[in-house]
Amino acid sequence: MSTLSATYKQRQKVLGYPVDTVDETLALEIIEEAWTAKRGLHVVTLNAEMVIASQQDQALDRIIRHAHLIVPDGSGVVWALRLAGHGVNRLPGIELAGAALALAARTGARVALLGGKTEVLEKIQSTLPTLYPGLNIVASHNGYFSLDDEDQLVDAIAAAKPDLVLVALGVPKQEYFIDRWNHAFPHTVMIGVGGSFDVWAGNVKRAPAAFRKMHMEWFYRLMAEPWRFKRMSAALPSFAAQVLQELAQSKLSEKKHGDKVRSGRQAKPHDKSKERSKDK
Ligand code: UDP
Repeated sequence: MSTLSATYKQRQKVLGYPVDTVDETLALEIIEEAWTAKRGLHVVTLNAEMVIASQQDQALDRIIRHAHLIVPDGSGVVWALRLAGHGVNRLPGIELAGAALALAARTGARVALLGGKTEVLEKIQSTLPTLYPGLNIVASHNGYFSLDDEDQLVDAIAAAKPDLVLVALGVPKQEYFIDRWNHAFPHTVMIGVGGSFDVWAGNVKRAPAAFRKMHMEWFYRLMAEPWRFKRMSAALPSFAAQVLQELAQSKLSEKKHGDKVRSGRQAKPHDKSKERSKDK
């Protein structure tokens, strides 16, 4: 059985959306197995904002549900899983993407980078190979292109036969792109990595470790990039409220079930005595 198939047995749900409770080691094993088997793999790094966006966007909803591997990127998703009693840690997309690049460098896998501004892409194309010696970047393109250019751009990237494509167009653009073009990359691992290129280029700072430890990376991001307020303030409270409501409902139905079982147990001896008295 492949590691991916085994992972599906442990699959959990957050507000109905699938989440694979994998750590970095397991995710890398799945990626490497996909490379060896020449199998396409779409990896989604799920967070609370994406869950709420998917509830309002049927296309995104379908794409996320059909992805091959869905990792718990966001604190909100991990919080919801832990509330439901599942021991799981965050696997931030940027860390998974970095680890996948390291694996690609070690194994000679071919890498393509798509997304971000031209200067960002140029910068990381020169810094990533020093960070991951042996990294083989076979194709790249900035993320500012029109739909009319896509055919040509995809042809050029696919011709380079990448084993890994990191797509940094932001949510939901990157998910739409991967879905639209997965037929052009049947043997490729594709990961939507949001703003990771900006972080690698040093243009955007990741939250300090203390924030990450406290599961407050989202708060740091909000402070650093206040334009995110509108999106986050609409999504996060709704996500939390829905998770708590779902938890309360499941506790209530557990209690009802428990009460039913208990009253059933109490009823049995009573019924038997009735039967005995009837026999007399
Ligand atoms: N981006 C892009 N093309 C676009 C829109 C965005 O390449 O048409 C890039 C942008 O330069 C940035 C990334 O996509 O590097 C989006 O980063 P963000 O942190 O906003 O991603 P998200 O929060 O959606 O994961």
